[in-house]
Amino acid sequence: MSARNILNADLHCHSVVSDGTLTPEDLAARAKAGGVELWALTDHDEVGGQARALAAARSQGLAYLTGVEVSVTFAKETIHIVGLGVDPEHAELCEGLAHTRSGRDQRAVQMGEELAKVGIKGAYEGALKYVGNPALVSRTHVARFLVEAGHCGSTHEVFSRYLVEGKPGYVPHTWASLTEAVGWIKRSGGMAVLAHPARYRRLTPTEHWALFSEFREAGGEGVEVVTGSHSEAEALQYAQLARELGLYASRGSDFHSPEESRVPLGSLPFLTGDLRPVWEALEHRIQ
Ligand code: AMP
Ligand code: MN
Ligand code: MN
Ligand code: MN
Repeated sequence: MSARNILNADLHCHSVVSDGTLTPEDLAARAKAGGVELWALTDHDEVGGQARALAAARSQGLAYLTGVEVSVTFAKETIHIVGLGVDPEHAELCEGLAHTRSGRDQRAVQMGEELAKVGIKGAYEGALKYVGNPALVSRTHVARFLVEAGHCGSTHEVFSRYLVEGKPGYVPHTWASLTEAVGWIKRSGGMAVLAHPARYRRLTPTEHWALFSEFREAGGEGVEVVTGSHSEAEALQYAQLARELGLYASRGSDFHSPEESRVPLGSLPFLTGDLRPVWEALEHRIQ
């Protein structure tokens, strides 16, 4: 299939290899059921699921782009950069991601210690029960334990009451730099895409602008416009910014789990025809 004819691309989701609850095979089946034509698995800081995802895409008859979602610290905030069409065996990318993952276990131990101070015991051990990849302990796993233990009714509630700055269980962490993450993605053959830009509400307007300009200076070329993390109004706003800045536009559900995710794979509105979709520039990387 020519990239020009693709409408239903879902280029952002998570498996058990990071903080999703489904295997790459289950996600591929759901992508197929949701009408997805082009799919990418974008686990946090990890490409260990890519071979399985590609094989599963093949068996479902889906076109596939490799993917990863890299955690970055910019202006003291956590920003996510999606890499599409990367080479999952590229040494610099793999080393950079391994380094980015390296502090996660210790951070989770500290989250457990902080939560114990407010009377929540066993959060680290409890989170580990939900972890599919020992190298990738995430706040999401801690959140699932807090729901299981009855402290909150949903993982969304956990993120409003715990684990975020100013709330119990928050542990500051420094991830990769913007320039590093974009560089790893580009040098491994991929395109860097700024994930869910409307979510960075703690950045001042000046910082938000600086994020886009530094991202582009580093070689970033795409922005998520239609994502499970944006409202319709936010999608319109970032479509306009993509046009103004000449960025390629991306679309992805950010699906994590049938219970926790608002948007199933493949179900979001399509990109409008005047945007340049990331997959047109990545045609040579589609497998
Ligand atoms: P981490 O990379 O360990 O800091 O965890 C970040 C992950 O937490 C994100 O990728 C989301 O899956 C999840 N997360 C962050 N904020 C929220 C929220 N408000 N509601 C639900 N999940 C969230
Ligand atoms: Mn996540
Ligand atoms: Mn994200
Ligand atoms: Mn994500």
